[in-house]
Amino acid sequence: MRRCLVIGSPIAHSRSPLIHRLFAEQQGIALCYEKREVTPGTVAPLLSDCRANGVLGLNVTLPLKEEAFAAADIHHPRAAEAEAANTLWFDQQGRINADNTDGQGLLGDLARMGVELSNATVLMLGAGGAAKGVLGALLGKQPARLAVMNRTPARADALASRYGIESLPPNLVFRQPFDVVINATSMGLTGASELALSPSAVGIGTTCYDMVYGNAETAFLRWAAGCGATRRYDGLGMLVGQAAEAFRLWHGQLPSVQPVIDFLRRRLKS
Ligand code: NAP
Repeated sequence: MRRCLVIGSPIAHSRSPLIHRLFAEQQGIALCYEKREVTPGTVAPLLSDCRANGVLGLNVTLPLKEEAFAAADIHHPRAAEAEAANTLWFDQQGRINADNTDGQGLLGDLARMGVELSNATVLMLGAGGAAKGVLGALLGKQPARLAVMNRTPARADALASRYGIESLPPNLVFRQPFDVVINATSMGLTGASELALSPSAVGIGTTCYDMVYGNAETAFLRWAAGCGATRRYDGLGMLVGQAAEAFRLWHGQLPSVQPVIDFLRRRLKS
């Protein structure tokens, strides 16, 4: 029986154990996957404990991704670029490997929706860990324009200079809508009134993608609907996609995401 876990704080809400159980059943792997509440500042001793107890790998969520990255011995390129890790594993020498699968999860979900990023104009809302984790992957698709906007502009400026992209101030009015607008803020299901994005950023053909998901349409997607956007997607597929890539890193088998997305969607609706 292989052992994995997801760590974070809070962690009670995490759907990772369910997702990995469904992947494991699909792939015929005997897996015990648990969730554990971990206090910031205690990741390194926890990892020593996991190594001693034969844990294969860990997923890492808020607010521990940077700390997990710092605790790792080997930083794979996607984690090194984001300076944050959402997937860890121990190699045969016992070294802690760190990777970041969020960008892969986002790109896979956008591709599943038929969204073309090459030569597209793309606006990223938010400048926290989630934005940082996916900008490198987005840049790799060679969009015509990639810009970042954040409630606290200094954080967008820092991210923009790190990736050589544009930082735009909140409430800027645009002459043309973007092809793709991605919400990577944690405004969630209810924060629409705090959205400092001009409706001019969004047109009928704009793909609006929210990394957040829930049992109802998110605040950003409701706002986008009000702007006339018809192509609106939440982040459930990204969540399952980043988990699938972590599963592949640990077990060497890439599971099918669609049945798991469908299962979770039905659960959210019931
Ligand atoms: P984070 O590091 O705490 O950053 C939060 C970001 O949201 C910051 O840019 C912050 O702006 C902004 N923000 C927070 N509340 C806001 C509000 N009311 N109005 C406007 N902006 C607001 O969090 P994170 O790790 O980037 O995660 C962001 C979201 O992405 C979370 O909801 C997370 O669950 C989701 N996520 C989803 C997936 C997935 O697989 N679907 C993967 C990763 C993350 P300031 O800088 O001004 O504070």
